[in-house]
Amino acid sequence: MTASVGTGTLRFAAVAKTFDNGTIALSEVDLDLAPGDFVSVVGPSGCGKSTLLRLASGLTAPTGGEIFADTGKIGYVFQDPTLLEWRSAAKNVELAGELHGMARAERRKRAAEALELVGLAGFEKQLPGQLSGGMRMRVSLARALTLDPEIFLFDEPFGALDEITRLRMQDELQRLFRTQGFTGLFITHSVTEAVYLSTRVAVMSARPGRIVREVDVPFPFPRSPEIRYHADFARIAGEVSAALKEASS
Ligand code: ADP
Repeated sequence: MTASVGTGTLRFAAVAKTFDNGTIALSEVDLDLAPGDFVSVVGPSGCGKSTLLRLASGLTAPTGGEIFADTGKIGYVFQDPTLLEWRSAAKNVELAGELHGMARAERRKRAAEALELVGLAGFEKQLPGQLSGGMRMRVSLARALTLDPEIFLFDEPFGALDEITRLRMQDELQRLFRTQGFTGLFITHSVTEAVYLSTRVAVMSARPGRIVREVDVPFPFPRSPEIRYHADFARIAGEVSAALKEASS
């Protein structure tokens, strides 16, 4: 389940999106992600962050500009784990393969591997209702991992989790990023989460959204949770916060 080296480029060039009702969600979005990048996007509510991810996944078409992805292996994880309550954890994870027409034996094998990767080995037969919020999110991550994504899109996946679970999931995601080799595009409202996880943080303006600032986060991986208390971390988070404040005004 490791992506081949070199794939995972995602590029937005002057991307615009105007909805049929006339709402201009995005204008002139320029953003480049190279293999090895994990980019978080922060911005005021309603500035077009989710729209940006939907465009990247191909679920929606842009009305201007161009989006380039050098792989069709794109994973997508939402804030709501969107699990089928009557299917076991393993059967939920198999669903992605099912929808892609994967043979039964293959999707079972991949589901088992993915559940192991997210630390849920032994929970295969549990129903979603028997799992905690963090475990449900792990199932959702595992489901996307079965497709071996080379570009992984995250729409505020930890926004609904309690603080302790959220911090734990950040470390899990960081580990997956290091071991699985995907390019990450991650939406969040938390500046600390963005800086902790990312190689770069992009700040979006209020609607119509565009990228107004990109801040590099040069800390090497693996990053330990204590890094959040370092002066350099505070300086970078401060830079992002200031840009976000300016973008929201
Ligand atoms: P964010 O994720 O930053 O909160 P969204 O991408 O969800 O923002 O939405 C951006 C803007 O586009 C919002 O004003 C929203 O109401 C509008 N919008 C989103 N989807 C649609 C749609 N299908 N039709 C019309 N307007 C939409």
